[in-house]
Amino acid sequence: MGRESLARPTTANGPIRTVKDMRSDIDGLDLYPPDADDLDVTDDERQRYHAIVTSETFGRAPDLRCPHYLDEQGGLCGIWRHRNGVCATWFCKHDRGAAGQRFWQAVEALLALVERELSHWCACQLLYHGAASEPANPDENVSAWDAWATRPVDYYMQAATLVDDLGWPEIQVIAGAELGPLLDRVRAAYAELQPSAARSPLVPLRRLVPGELRISHRGPHSARLVTYSDSDPVDLPSELLAILPRFDGRPTDEVLAELASDGIVLTDELVTQLIDFAVLADP
Ligand code: SF4
Repeated sequence: MGRESLARPTTANGPIRTVKDMRSDIDGLDLYPPDADDLDVTDDERQRYHAIVTSETFGRAPDLRCPHYLDEQGGLCGIWRHRNGVCATWFCKHDRGAAGQRFWQAVEALLALVERELSHWCACQLLYHGAASEPANPDENVSAWDAWATRPVDYYMQAATLVDDLGWPEIQVIAGAELGPLLDRVRAAYAELQPSAARSPLVPLRRLVPGELRISHRGPHSARLVTYSDSDPVDLPSELLAILPRFDGRPTDEVLAELASDGIVLTDELVTQLIDFAVLADP
């Protein structure tokens, strides 16, 4: 994040656009927030969403992505050099299911705090601490904020310059005491994604039960379950669905041994996947 964000890097699809470009585009696109009365979902929108879900294109059809998204270098934005925290951390499907979602939600919370605190800090520096290279307010009858309101591009450029000069230690100080717990949350969620955690010997000692799940579709040999996310359902063979109630809160190794004696062997890897996707959960 920084001055470069507003510069004009190039991508394979051409130059990334600047705030100034955006403003003229946005004026023509009617992208301003709707009135509160218009926020209700219309029948037409509901039907279109239903069609997307039933055709299973949600999360799979590239043309449903944000039109500014560039599918290169791991995902870029056609407007900003660095996508904001919400965009950069939102995925409709996760390789590790709920465990992956927990990690990205933790990163989002961390980035949201940093973005919020840096924007407040920039405002204070520019409005009250004389950090602007060129004052926005030659007229003393106009408040500092009102003067910047007529020069938003200059404001953002100067704010970006301030942020560019910061290192992580300074950002930690600016973000304050709220940062520590969010960093801990990211570290814990990241540790949960490590292969050693996935094969933890502690899994058999847990007392698993079926997670909160909803069957959205049942076929002759499998069922589609909605568990941790509407946009990432899980297809489960019917035989596996039928034995889920056997996980009734007893130690998992006991349940697995009982299933094995019935000729049903569930590997640690499969149990871990069921936990990741919240098909099984702690009580
Ligand atoms: S930051 Fe993300 S959502 Fe926003 S315009 Fe860029 S690609 Fe689209």
